Amino acid sequence: MSDILLQIKELQVTFFSKLGPLRAVDGISYAIRQGKTLGLVGESGCGKSVTSYAIMGLLDHPGQVTHGSIRFDGQDLTLCTEQELQNIRGNRISMIFQEPMTALNPVFTIGFQLDEQILRHKKVSKTEARNRSIEMLRVVGIPAPEKRYESYPHQLSGGMRQRAMIAMALSCDPEFLIADEPTTAIDVTIQAQILDLMQSLQERFHMAIQFITHDLGVVSEVSDDVVVMYAGKICEIADADTIFNHPKHPYTYGLIESIPKRRQRVAKLYSIPGTVVSLIEIPEGCRFQNRCPNVLDQCRKISPELTSVGDGHSVACFNMM
Ligand code: SF4
Repeated sequence: MSDILLQIKELQVTFFSKLGPLRAVDGISYAIRQGKTLGLVGESGCGKSVTSYAIMGLLDHPGQVTHGSIRFDGQDLTLCTEQELQNIRGNRISMIFQEPMTALNPVFTIGFQLDEQILRHKKVSKTEARNRSIEMLRVVGIPAPEKRYESYPHQLSGGMRQRAMIAMALSCDPEFLIADEPTTAIDVTIQAQILDLMQSLQERFHMAIQFITHDLGVVSEVSDDVVVMYAGKICEIADADTIFNHPKHPYTYGLIESIPKRRQRVAKLYSIPGTVVSLIEIPEGCRFQNRCPNVLDQCRKISPELTSVGDGHSVACFNMM
């Protein structure tokens, strides 16, 4: 039996702007395995969050899925009605964000918001929902959960708000969690605690996670599989060991070189030269050509296809590392 929970095939997301159609995600395909964590990596603007919003059916106008499919447990989410998506969101698929206030409403107590989420998706009484909410606050490590149940979001510290958001996202036992830069806005010690918490909750609830980040250091700690995106396309896919020990795409290589190494004293950390190419000026050929140390003439004319180079390892490049 297949262990694939979510399968994205040739997904294209286009924003119909005044400047013309901008393809923020351009024909990407990958799969997420049940109970595993996939790290979706790349700099800002490479299409990671747009992909996640497409999965959730939360793309804002003028963004649209213009091609491809997103199959979740056999059902194509791109063909679902809004009602069907509402039944899936927050229930079977959940999302946590960099900024907890994206998910938490400042005018309602934490408990009210948790109860509401549970009552919307589960056939339980108000008392059962309340008990479940308090239990979830306890599970995510919030001290005095009965008291915090009555608190408003602004009465919690940043780290506690992050935990409350995770409690809300997990309150209906989702099979799939999308975590969009969940540790970027919090300090390093809390970051480690939140990562540990997510890993222990994943084991406990056996859910799959798509972990979106620009930080490869974080990905190396949490991921089973890694997808590296650049300017709306996938440049490399492999299991985490292969990505970190045998990267083949020059962009992946550059991202790994940019990770601060323990006990390594260097005057200046490596950074990939230049910035991500703008969607309004996508060049002919490879999108990474202007930043690539390995660029060939061919790269300026032809766009490289994602090609298998080994077991589960695919790379889109004419001149690999
Ligand atoms: S295809 Fe060419 S420009 Fe693109 S990453 Fe590979 S070597 Fe660099």
